Amino acid sequence: MEQMFLAKSIALSLMAALSMSAQETKDRRWAISNGSITANYRLAASTQRFRLDSIVDAVTGARWAAPTDSAVSPINLTTDAGTIDGRTPMILRASRLESIAQGGTRTQIVLRDSAEQFEFTLDLEVWPQHPAVRQSLQVVPLAQAVVIRAADFMPWQFSAAGGPYRTFQVNQWAIIPQPVNFEPIEMKLSPAGVAQTVSSGSGATQCAWLALRDRQDRGLFWGWEFDGRAEVSIRHDARRDRLTVSSEITGLNHPVAAGEPFEVPASFIGVFHGDWDEAGYRTQRFAETAIAAAAPGGVRFPYAVWDSWGYQKEIDEVVLRRNAELAAQAGIELFVVDLGWAPQMGDWVEDPKKFPSGLKALARYVHSLGMKFGLHFVPTEAAPASAVLREHPDWVSSETYHYHGAVSLCPGHKPVREWVLKEVLKIIDNYEVDWILQDGQTLVKFCNRKDHTHAADDSNYSNSVDGIDWIVAEARRLRPNTVWENCANGGSMMTFKMLRNYVTSITNDASGSLGARQGMFGATFPFPPRYADRYMPDSKLNAYVTRSFMFGGPWVFMNRLPEMSDDDLRFAQSEVARFKGFRDEVRDGKIFHLSARPNEGVVDAVQTLEGGEAVAVVTRDQATAPRFVLRLRGLDEAQLYTVTFADDPRVLTMSGQQLMEQGVPINFEEFRDAEIVYARPVHP
Ligand SMILES: [Zn+2]
Repeated sequence: MEQMFLAKSIALSLMAALSMSAQETKDRRWAISNGSITANYRLAASTQRFRLDSIVDAVTGARWAAPTDSAVSPINLTTDAGTIDGRTPMILRASRLESIAQGGTRTQIVLRDSAEQFEFTLDLEVWPQHPAVRQSLQVVPLAQAVVIRAADFMPWQFSAAGGPYRTFQVNQWAIIPQPVNFEPIEMKLSPAGVAQTVSSGSGATQCAWLALRDRQDRGLFWGWEFDGRAEVSIRHDARRDRLTVSSEITGLNHPVAAGEPFEVPASFIGVFHGDWDEAGYRTQRFAETAIAAAAPGGVRFPYAVWDSWGYQKEIDEVVLRRNAELAAQAGIELFVVDLGWAPQMGDWVEDPKKFPSGLKALARYVHSLGMKFGLHFVPTEAAPASAVLREHPDWVSSETYHYHGAVSLCPGHKPVREWVLKEVLKIIDNYEVDWILQDGQTLVKFCNRKDHTHAADDSNYSNSVDGIDWIVAEARRLRPNTVWENCANGGSMMTFKMLRNYVTSITNDASGSLGARQGMFGATFPFPPRYADRYMPDSKLNAYVTRSFMFGGPWVFMNRLPEMSDDDLRFAQSEVARFKGFRDEVRDGKIFHLSARPNEGVVDAVQTLEGGEAVAVVTRDQATAPRFVLRLRGLDEAQLYTVTFADDPRVLTMSGQQLMEQGVPINFEEFRDAEIVYARPVHP
């Protein structure tokens, strides 16, 4: 049925395209719809203006209407030749409907400004069940080369009936200018037109995500696919009845030759009804279908991981083999050799002193134990004495980021990115690498050198889109069986572009148990939980420690396994088994943040709900009271559930209503302690 419907729609849109050459006498309308959301666009016959009309939540009927006099359009850019926006007369060149991956549908609208200086290809994409529309825009200058000075990738304006509004954003990980660790930030949006800003991208302060809701809990959410620095602003001007979202790519000065395409970063807008967990859930499920790199390993992902950083750079094949044997016994699925396997950064061959039998032999040994083999790689840093820098001292970026004594390379410079790609392909092939742990300091470099292939004043766009993004996308295209983990000393590039290239991301680095829970807590609002990857430092294990790292994406042990007691190894093994027992429910479920952000002196709790089953991790971090009442969310009130615990031997039968209202008492034994609570429906 669906197929037939689509075929018919394509035929209709082809007919429409054929009849378009003549001057339109009627408004041309598009309804981008999937039953959950409808986005209405229009090319007005009288004014030739192309605009959004409205976004409609098909479930609640909430309608976000664009003001009729708005200059805001999906096409908003400034070049050295002028500005194109909602006031620019447009000519329709083509309109097509096509099927895309994951059952999605793309409406492609091709327009030219009436002076025929540019051609714009706007893609509007929806997927069944997901109340969000993804938008991307390609711009081609037709007559002459231009410099793109501004490209608003999130131009939205609505009549603001329904305010006042609250907004929600989440920090990413940063140390400078001030330390941040995924703090969720809820704010009232001033009706006096005062802008709130999200500063996103590599090295910025916030995740590339924003949500808004009104008093009736009707809301919108946005995410954007850009790894460079960008600022997204939202403001509510009640006097003028305007709710406006706009964006700015930092330092954009991108030269584009005539006939060449310029890609405006893609973004999405979605509708929701409920709280911030609901906004996050809608975002996450959409992102998994529409954007995120497919998870490897099916039900086995996120992996239980071992990483060699507990030894810092003091690794060799003897130590690693012994750890690999114990890791395999503990149930570890991915074995990662961290920084220190090469003689120095930039010389990407194994250190023969550390690996006299060769790194490939270690990879094969790891594979023979049934684990995947992962390798640390630093694409855009090199040691001052490395061969690459001795040969090409001009490849460094004008700013260096001091990653373990290295100097930074500029991947905005074409020979650099081509060399990095060649090196990583060589590593993957030589060492049979399944997993690249990509590290470094600030993946999008600043570079204003005049002797590089990028424009000197276009560092941000060149070093992200043409730089690191290009390298990873090309490596993945050429070696599709090797997946990438994003780690730049912590979750400092938390964007939806990152989701496209990587299967997971670190949230924070070396933050300890509390810091790990804080990072996971915030990151699991905007991003699917598998993107909250946590590194557990080498420390004495107990339930408080292991369960601080258990909820989210890959769980990375940095323990020196041969130095652990047999009891501790057995405990690690049973905790890994416990992690595997509910990781798919965390990966695919709706995440509920049951407490305030984790902190010392309180109890924190986070829950997943998948297939009617709930699992919650509840952690006492030195709270005075040894008892805590856990109230679950999202259950079926009338359903009976069997409630069990990781440690507590009680088995309870409670209704959904009881679990959500009365709650389950948790008894902690230790001052720092954690319990896991399972609620599974009783089937008569
Ligand atoms: Zn450069």
